[in-house]
Amino acid sequence: MSETTNNIIEVKNLKKYFKVGKKDVLKAVDDVSFCIKEGETLGLVGESGCGKTTCGRTVVGMYGKTEGQVLYKGKDVHSLKGKEKRAFTKDVQIIFQDPYASLDPRMTVAEIIGEGIEIHGLAKNKKEKEERIAHLLEMVGLNKEHANRFIHEFSGGQRQRIGIARALAVEPKFIMCDEPISALDVSIQAQVANMLIKFQQEMKLTYLFVAHDLAMVKHISDRVAVMYLGAIVELAESEELYSHPLHPYTEALMSAIPIADPKVEDTRERIMLEGDVPSPINTPPGCKFQGRCPKATDKCRCEAPALREVRKGHFVACHLISQ
Ligand code: SF4
Repeated sequence: MSETTNNIIEVKNLKKYFKVGKKDVLKAVDDVSFCIKEGETLGLVGESGCGKTTCGRTVVGMYGKTEGQVLYKGKDVHSLKGKEKRAFTKDVQIIFQDPYASLDPRMTVAEIIGEGIEIHGLAKNKKEKEERIAHLLEMVGLNKEHANRFIHEFSGGQRQRIGIARALAVEPKFIMCDEPISALDVSIQAQVANMLIKFQQEMKLTYLFVAHDLAMVKHISDRVAVMYLGAIVELAESEELYSHPLHPYTEALMSAIPIADPKVEDTRERIMLEGDVPSPINTPPGCKFQGRCPKATDKCRCEAPALREVRKGHFVACHLISQ
């Protein structure tokens, strides 16, 4: 999956395991490979507990890896040092799901946004820093009067705008958006998503957009990877995935998205998945989805399917899908 040369991120056979108790191992990310091209948005979706957030955080170096490799512009993220590490911490930013937990309540908005500007020496003096902060606040739909206030004085949507301004302050290249709209009111979600799309176009940003909301991921992503129990089960261009989902898990997730047309909504088939995602501590043998898959066969119960390209750019891990 690394056939093009303009990949900004390349993830190769990445594993991230956590020790649980004395001998159990939680396989949060279990042999995941994908790439992200410069300027694109890759959506990473799946139910809660599927490993998507751990995967995103390992990709940006927030977590160490257990095995495999993550390359940012060809350099191994987990062994960067000195100048290269400093450049990486400027280039690569995170927008978190919960802006209240990720923004220091004792700092003013100006201090939160200005911190990165100062660390990376992006303003010549105090005046220039203040001008940059005022400009960033305007960009995200706030104003310079907000600069001296504290986080608790803002609504959830405004806090997320401050989180976005903080990420943009250091002129990043790549942003890991960690469920940035899930905690917001539905009325605010589209506004924040549209803002992220606008900044991506204007600033030529690349996003890894982690989410469980398939409908929103379609709106924002060029390509989408579907995760289940620590592994990618399907990956394709957004339009292709939504019009031709191949993996039974993706089909089930798609069937749960409401359709605006009531006639279509009333007649279409819903695929109900039984049970919850199994524990990543004791993963089942064979295909990880076999315990919930309505199409599982004996082969599925003993042999794990590999992620294979079955149509151009469309990868799927399922024994039943042939090229
Ligand atoms: Fe279902 Fe088998 Fe395909 Fe797994 S490999 S998704 S169990 S049909």
